[in-house]
Amino acid sequence: MEQINGKLINENVAFEDFKNYDGQEVTISGYVHRIREMTGFAFVIIRTKRDLIQCVYAPEFSSYRWDDRLREEACVKVLGKVVSSLDAKGNQRFELQIHDVTILSLPAEDLPIVINKKQLDNIQLSTILDLRPIALRNPKERAIFKIQEGIARGFREFLLSQDFTEIRSPKINFAGAEGGTNVFKLDYFGKQVYLAQSPQLYKQALVGVYERVFEIAPVFRAEHHDTSRHLNEYISMDFEMGFINDFRDIMNMETGLLKYIFNLLKKEYSAELELLHAVVPEIDTIPCMKFMDAKELLMKKFKYNPTDMKDFDPQEEEMLGKYAKKEFNSDFIFITHYPSKKRPFYTMDDPEDPEYTLSFDLLFRGLEITSGGQRVHDYKAQVDKMIKCGMDPEQFETYLMLHKYGAPPHGGLGLGLERLTMHLLGFKNVREATMFPRDINRVTP
Ligand code: ATP
Ligand code: MG
Repeated sequence: MEQINGKLINENVAFEDFKNYDGQEVTISGYVHRIREMTGFAFVIIRTKRDLIQCVYAPEFSSYRWDDRLREEACVKVLGKVVSSLDAKGNQRFELQIHDVTILSLPAEDLPIVINKKQLDNIQLSTILDLRPIALRNPKERAIFKIQEGIARGFREFLLSQDFTEIRSPKINFAGAEGGTNVFKLDYFGKQVYLAQSPQLYKQALVGVYERVFEIAPVFRAEHHDTSRHLNEYISMDFEMGFINDFRDIMNMETGLLKYIFNLLKKEYSAELELLHAVVPEIDTIPCMKFMDAKELLMKKFKYNPTDMKDFDPQEEEMLGKYAKKEFNSDFIFITHYPSKKRPFYTMDDPEDPEYTLSFDLLFRGLEITSGGQRVHDYKAQVDKMIKCGMDPEQFETYLMLHKYGAPPHGGLGLGLERLTMHLLGFKNVREATMFPRDINRVTP
């Protein structure tokens, strides 16, 4: 409550609380989103942090005198009375009768695009991305990243409830975690260092300390190709846990995690989901298939000729997604036991068939969103595997401290935040689900 002209006013009331102020005078602050002038009155739609609030102006109940300075994207404080009515469906809806308006600031120029329609119509993705700071003012655009907030929040909340510890690993490193061609090199006071491709080596070290750890942070991949699912910087949601029975414990944890995230979205982000027509998946159990069985299925049932017997290409992932939907009515499918040759050096080989690993990917609506698995925890086994992979164990001395001085059976996964958002919202391009994407052609804004 604040006193204005000797009157007590409910300051800056959120739209969701209007129901508690029916008939009372309140203030709201926000942007003028849209003005619709009618005969003798006007609708002024105010865009607040998460809502659009319909305000009605008429000279008979307003001490404000209409003035042309009041225009779209002006920042204002509106004093008014909350009034309610019933809509056609019998739901109570609220609006504000404008008593007074204070203009807090005015834009220097008109917007280069129309942001106050339902969606950004006929505007190319590259233009939207160029104009991100203002394109995001469109309610549908900003809803994407509110939902993304919900996903990351669900990830964090669920893992904290399961006794995980949140960690923050360095992003500038002397060794690239998984090596390969897609690591960014950086000059570090005359020495060559790398941008982190993943928190892998650090999260494993911290299993030896906290047993269960997670991190939500950017990782960097020098992807040389321009695809609809690769970024050069993305948010990796990682967890790693010790004292597991086997890699299925990781898959079960991820299943619980996804259930929690989707429930949270349905509970607290329903307005945004509705705006984006998002279909939130129902998860019971997630079907599971071995890599080689999946290859056989693709060849026999889908008559597909794989070009790579060690991994899936995007079409194969898509077909497996369709198969999971049709056969198990599931938006998700785990593929397990990837070939040893295609998995990183820390992956545990299947003791029953060492050509394959105790690892998995999770496909969501036909797109890989997670890779995970059990890690090697025995010192000698890890050193041997590094040598077999052509690596020099001496360069990984600090990483190997975990193994040398005792490690529990453990495993974990990495889940790409943008890819999950992308397929939840039915986007064709991961950039639509990235606030400020970095790709081979874009480093601004
Ligand atoms: P892909 O085979 O699709 O290129 P990957 O197997 O190289 O991915 P991982 O190293 O397994 O990727 O990374 C774990 C997860 O991180 C992936 O399942 C995906 O969700 C996400 N991810 C990986 N690379 C990218 C990228 N360049 N841009 C956005 N997300 C990515
Ligand atoms: Mg992967």
